[in-house]
Amino acid sequence: MTATIIDGKAIANQIKEDVAREVKNLAEHGVTPGLAVVKIGEDPASEVYVRIKRKTCDKLGIASFSHDLPAETTTKQLLHLLQELNVDRNVHGILVQLPLPKHIDEATIISAIDPAKDVDGFHPINAGKLLVGEKSLRPCTPSGIVKLIDSLGEEIRGKNAVVVGRSNIVGKPVALMLLERHATVTVCHSRTENIEDIVRKADIIVAAVGRANFVKGDWVKKGAIVIDVGINREDDGKLVGDVDYAGASERASAITPVPGGVGPMTIAMLMDNTIKAARALTHNPARERED
Ligand code: NDP
Repeated sequence: MTATIIDGKAIANQIKEDVAREVKNLAEHGVTPGLAVVKIGEDPASEVYVRIKRKTCDKLGIASFSHDLPAETTTKQLLHLLQELNVDRNVHGILVQLPLPKHIDEATIISAIDPAKDVDGFHPINAGKLLVGEKSLRPCTPSGIVKLIDSLGEEIRGKNAVVVGRSNIVGKPVALMLLERHATVTVCHSRTENIEDIVRKADIIVAAVGRANFVKGDWVKKGAIVIDVGINREDDGKLVGDVDYAGASERASAITPVPGGVGPMTIAMLMDNTIKAARALTHNPARERED
């Protein structure tokens, strides 16, 4: 069996076209969606991600507000900026690029973002809403993963899904989203025993480990769907995922490539969340009064 390659780039482009249409709609009502992207320090990977996010905003007609702060920025200074952005009517989405420098507590910063503008979907209120199945701004990478699986036209209901990784930004939320879609979900992590035996039972594998080629080809059940979230840079500069792509694609029915799979979906879903936030903020009379 040779796996179908899930073209994340093409699917992300469709989502971005929808976003661009919605931007035009909002413009007719006098609204320009705005995304504030806050970067602290000069982490090279963050520089790349932030540049792509800002460029995508420009392409789609979303106003992007750049806040590039030095690595020495204090928690107090960052909290002050977030307070300003929370009440800025031109800003509908706020994204603080992670990871933050060590001296800044991530949880404090995430909690300081207005949940209605939390386009990353990491605020405890939005995480809680996802847990109880309420409508909310949901984390971008997990939402993108579900869309990639849906693009195959396969039922998620009843499938055995194994998520490797339990981070707050990928593993846990994607597990909840698959559970919401009636998959039987197992979450593996660094203390899981016999991980390969668990992965071998999966109809859907989501690998979000952060270790190159962690999931071996022979762990993949014949016909499984493989979603590789990992982005690992090898010594020669090449990007590889968390799954042994060559081995897995001989057994999987469908697989995401790295790059070109999950990555583009994360950006597209961020743009989609920004539109959702803009729509909700500008159609909420109660909130207008609060302001
Ligand atoms: P984290 O480092 O936050 O989490 C990694 C998870 O993998 C943890 O839950 C950890 O377990 C688990 N893990 C680590 N080692 C092992 C092991 N030996 N066996 C089993 N489980 C293990 O990473 P993220 O979730 O933030 O990201 C994961 C990967 O996805 C990274 O490569 C990242 O770059 C990429 N990524 C890609 C995105 C995209 O848009 N394509 C977006 C976000 C992330 P434990 O909890 O026990 O420590």
